[in-house]
Amino acid sequence: MTDLTSLTIAEARSGLAKKTFTALELTDAHLKAMEDARVLNAYVLETPDHARAMAREADTKIAKGEGGPLAGIPLGIKDLFATRDVRTTACSKILGNFLPPYESTVTSQLWRDGAVMLGKLNNDEFAMGSSNETSCFGSVVNPWRREGSATALVPGGSSGGSASAVAASLCMGATATDTGGSIRQPAAFTATVGIKPTYGRCSRWGIVAFASSLDQAGPIARTVRDTAILMRSMAGHDPKDTTSVDRAVPDYEAVVGKSVKGMKIGIPREYRLDGMSAEIEKLWSEGASWLKAAGAELVEVSLPHTKYALPAYYIVAPAEASSNLARYDGVRYGLRVPGRSIGEMYENTRAEGFGPEVRRRIMIGTYVLSAGYYDAYYLRAQKVRTLIKKDFEDCFARGVHAILTPATPSAAFGIGEKGGVDPVEMYLNDIFTVTVNMAGLPGIAVPAGKDSQGLPLGLQLIGRPFDEETLFSLGEVVEQAAGRFTPSRWW
Ligand code: GLN
Repeated sequence: MTDLTSLTIAEARSGLAKKTFTALELTDAHLKAMEDARVLNAYVLETPDHARAMAREADTKIAKGEGGPLAGIPLGIKDLFATRDVRTTACSKILGNFLPPYESTVTSQLWRDGAVMLGKLNNDEFAMGSSNETSCFGSVVNPWRREGSATALVPGGSSGGSASAVAASLCMGATATDTGGSIRQPAAFTATVGIKPTYGRCSRWGIVAFASSLDQAGPIARTVRDTAILMRSMAGHDPKDTTSVDRAVPDYEAVVGKSVKGMKIGIPREYRLDGMSAEIEKLWSEGASWLKAAGAELVEVSLPHTKYALPAYYIVAPAEASSNLARYDGVRYGLRVPGRSIGEMYENTRAEGFGPEVRRRIMIGTYVLSAGYYDAYYLRAQKVRTLIKKDFEDCFARGVHAILTPATPSAAFGIGEKGGVDPVEMYLNDIFTVTVNMAGLPGIAVPAGKDSQGLPLGLQLIGRPFDEETLFSLGEVVEQAAGRFTPSRWW
């Protein structure tokens, strides 16, 4: 029998339907792969008992012809999603051994459809980071290495555990979240596919909040089709999240393979950065030529406020984070470090419980929201955000269906290589992705090639609000042209 962990979700679905293997066999193969790959540090909690019980239940349902769309498909869950009675920490010491008494809406929809939970995946602490190095459980290792080198590389972040686990076949797909690029950048670093849906497409209920006006959940998987399959289960209206939108969820898989003939694809001038590497330039023009060959029309477009997106994001996101994270005070959840007064208890708990990057964000956020600085920073950043959104609206109003850009300015870098002295060095990773969150749009990252050292690179497609379907159709064209990329196993 072929290695069950190398199947795509679509392939596993038909194997299960044909009874070529059982859900329990599929789950066991993944649990074994997880054990053998602990050096990657992708999982912060393995839940084999849960997984086997869920797989058995899926087998029973499949036998009765009652299996849901994801029956028996083993998934990893980013540790930002609350899972009922299963430790959820956001990879922060401050949450300690928090056992949520509830399940996030997104994960509950996956279980409703029959998926199996293998465990909880590592991420940057509170999803703040681009390399998964800020996690209290330590760095995640990218299964990809530079040719002829054993240097450990980052998988990107904040959904680094999700991307690494999917790339290394330690799950068939994973949940992830994206506030400024945390689905698309790790997908690009690991040759996986990741989509950040339109803001409001998935419920945020039960997901640990980072910056509520930017946060959005989405899937990471190994093919465009697989992300489309997962998206259908993850999306949907939820009365418990007032920002989730009441719109029918389309059959995303149905548009995978649909013709893109006649679609107008924007190539934004401002994304051609000074000093952009020749490899990224080449990848981008290759991607454009694939879409053209498939019948799309390429047009140069302008998004004039692009250069303000990153600075504005690094005001808005910390501001919201400082407010969201005020709840971790040692009273309600997780860690408590005593003090002589309640004030001292708060101070001790927060000083010990939050890591340095989270503390930095809380301080920046508190500063930009404080009286006297609010207008100069926060309010101005919000105005910039409106202009960024308008740039995209103008572009779409001129008939552009989607926009093609690189996903990241470079391939994966070494653990410990970036951001040690200057945090901005790390923040620059998000240069192509944050605009999409600021505008609330959907964006997909698809593997498109490799750099000279053999590391994967991705392209990003940005769509109109709630037009994820176009992204799946276009993403499939890129995937068909570029082929799929799998890391060679060294672990
Ligand atoms: N890297 C960005 C940050 O650190 C985005 C993270 C995210 O999307 N969660 O804020």
